Amino acid sequence: MRMKQEFQTICPLDCPDACSLLLTVEEGRVTALRGDPGHPFTQGLICTKMRTYTDIIYAPGRILHPMRRVGPKGPGARFERVSWEEALDAAAARMREASARWGAESILPVSYSGTMGVLNRNAGQRFFHRLGASKLLRTLCTAACKAGLDATLGAGLGNDCAGMARSDHILLWGTNPATTNMHILPFIQAAREKGAKVTVIDVYRHRTAKLADAFVPVRPGTDAALALGMMHVLVREGLIDRGYIGRWTLGFEALRKRLEEYPPERAEAVTGVPAAEVERLAREYGRARAPFVRMGIGLSRHANGAMIVRTIACLPALVGAYAKEGGGLFEISTGAFGLDLAAYERPEWSPGGTRTINIVEVGKALTGALGGPPVKVLFVYHCAAAATLPDAGAVRRGLLREDLFTVVHEILHTDTVDYADIVLPAPTFAESPDFFTSYGQYFFGLNEGAIPPRGEAKSNYEVFSLLAERLGFEEPDFREGLWEAAARILDTPRLRRAGITLEALREKRYLQAPLNIANPFAGGFPTPSGRLEFYSERMGRMGLDPLPAHVPLAEGPENPAHAGRGMLQLVLPPGHHFLNSTGNGGARSMKGEGEQRLFLHPEDARERGLAEGEPVRVRTARGSIVRPLRVTEDVPRGVAIIPGVRASRHSPDGRGVNELTSQALTDMGEGPCYHTNLAEAAPAGAENGREGGPALTGAAIPATTQAP
Ligand code: SF4
Repeated sequence: MRMKQEFQTICPLDCPDACSLLLTVEEGRVTALRGDPGHPFTQGLICTKMRTYTDIIYAPGRILHPMRRVGPKGPGARFERVSWEEALDAAAARMREASARWGAESILPVSYSGTMGVLNRNAGQRFFHRLGASKLLRTLCTAACKAGLDATLGAGLGNDCAGMARSDHILLWGTNPATTNMHILPFIQAAREKGAKVTVIDVYRHRTAKLADAFVPVRPGTDAALALGMMHVLVREGLIDRGYIGRWTLGFEALRKRLEEYPPERAEAVTGVPAAEVERLAREYGRARAPFVRMGIGLSRHANGAMIVRTIACLPALVGAYAKEGGGLFEISTGAFGLDLAAYERPEWSPGGTRTINIVEVGKALTGALGGPPVKVLFVYHCAAAATLPDAGAVRRGLLREDLFTVVHEILHTDTVDYADIVLPAPTFAESPDFFTSYGQYFFGLNEGAIPPRGEAKSNYEVFSLLAERLGFEEPDFREGLWEAAARILDTPRLRRAGITLEALREKRYLQAPLNIANPFAGGFPTPSGRLEFYSERMGRMGLDPLPAHVPLAEGPENPAHAGRGMLQLVLPPGHHFLNSTGNGGARSMKGEGEQRLFLHPEDARERGLAEGEPVRVRTARGSIVRPLRVTEDVPRGVAIIPGVRASRHSPDGRGVNELTSQALTDMGEGPCYHTNLAEAAPAGAENGREGGPALTGAAIPATTQAP
């Protein structure tokens, strides 16, 4: 009889839901994977990305042994197997040499969210701090959201999405939960069954928009203008909660004056949402018993993204929704967990004045455009840098440098591996214990592993302990066990008081963060004033507009420099079957997602002489790619959509979508501007834009936050 065991784990993907999973293991092999019905938030549901994850664990192209490159860098690179000793010795020797010749800042670690496990995601920090390497600012996901929420609410917190079940009016703003946040769908459905209305506000009609009661298309990067128009109507028509405003907010009078500048007609001119629709949205919202806004992260990936987040976060305060059962707003929950990461990452070990490089600007760093010491050693771990970082052309030029020594620690043969000198095999989450928080719900979770590492795979945690030993680092941190480190990170007075310890997590498997998740602001807001700040003195001191505002995008249609050029606003939303390039190694994910296409409105296609299925060259100031066209009224006029980040090797022309994106930074939080792109679309083969039309040249102009 075959031995069969079930192990509880947490999904490691960079997804807000952090599902609890049950893995069935037979004879040392994962044979089934399902959702854990006991988890209070994820309730046994899992998405299509994880359902096929065994395709990745057992992918034919899985990296199972350390390797050394034996030919030229780039696509088609060849490797030979080496031992762990040889691989680590080579990496350590190059780091020593670079430190001695160019200084330790010539070493750059690049990591992101290949795993969301707290221990492994952050395992390299103390090693690189001790080494004195350049520091990496990891801002790709929630940095701009956090900055916008910090300025308004005081932290990355919101009303728990489970509360949506008791709402009577739900706005899904800039989010497509059927693809990216499926565990809120049961709560929405429960509310709907009791009569709640669900409206989606977004830049195109996606899966969730098709299921909603109403869909309101808004021009990319203009959501703040829509929120301001709605707030104008709420104040004008007295649909506000004066008691809540007086008790819990700061700067209402200043906001009221600002709102005079945003009548619905101005909102219409900026957003494309008719003034009557702005009024309808405002009245429905203002008259609802408990309106709930679930705001997405994508809308923050604009040059004005933090201001968009901040402005929308003001809306519930006007009607007192933050304090209403079933009402409020949620975007991220990162401010809830209160871990002592500094005790683990040891930032104090990094020499004073060590430079910090933003992950958005790795392309600049590798091509010498940032100044300072040259990057001579690049260490990439749990990050598909070549596919997912913006301005992929610049990243690729940097990776191709012959004088750059690159180490890549990976599960599968990604685009980045093609540029590696040394490749190290990494385990999947089924093979690598860790503990988890979440940015979409409020529970800690635990993964004690299900199967031994395949081949010779070693976790981030092990790799950095071994490298520390080679470099002679004697600090006891590098010799402590994984769970000892976990216990230290969790050992804070607040978590201890709440009974959140490693032992408790082992016993209960998931534990709620220690706060009132239905209304984290019941006792006040964690801002300097203790109130929700319509007016932010901190922003004023930073030279930013202290009040909510719509800030036109420099790379957008409101910039007179682009007027009349017939440019499209290009947005790159997530694919449905894989999470960025992570699922590209899974055969079923790729089959489910199908061919990657450019989506255009019929009129935009007709004006450019483009037909359904035809290969189209999409060009921005950074580069161009070719994709077949899908003509659809799901995309508004003036907007272009290409869903899903894929590796170059899985792209029809060998170029991924990040060829088109820029290294510009958001207004606050220094996040990426993945969705701020002006693009031209022309038949493939037409040189540099529409035949006979304008050519795009030069780099994007970064937007600034300023008073309108
Ligand atoms: S990707 Fe998200 S929704 Fe899918 S299983 Fe993982 S955590 Fe759950």
